[in-house]
Amino acid sequence: MQCSLCLGANLEIENLNKKINNAKDIVAKAGFAQDLLARVNLLIEQHKDKTLPCVSVLNLRKRTAALIIKTKRLV
Ligand SMILES: [Zn+2]
Repeated sequence: MQCSLCLGANLEIENLNKKINNAKDIVAKAGFAQDLLARVNLLIEQHKDKTLPCVSVLNLRKRTAALIIKTKRLV
């Protein structure tokens, strides 16, 4: 289901997700979400074929990270 690009970055992305989930407050969460967003953006750029199913998953991760960052701005 995942391509070699995503497989290579998967551990790093999972680690960032774990950090977001375990972060004590929204400021810390948003900090890790920024890292995740940057990493996912880079990963999407590396995909030549943007119609791959894994790119949709990456876009979803991107939206989730952006939402966390947006929430921090509202606090
Ligand atoms: Zn991929």
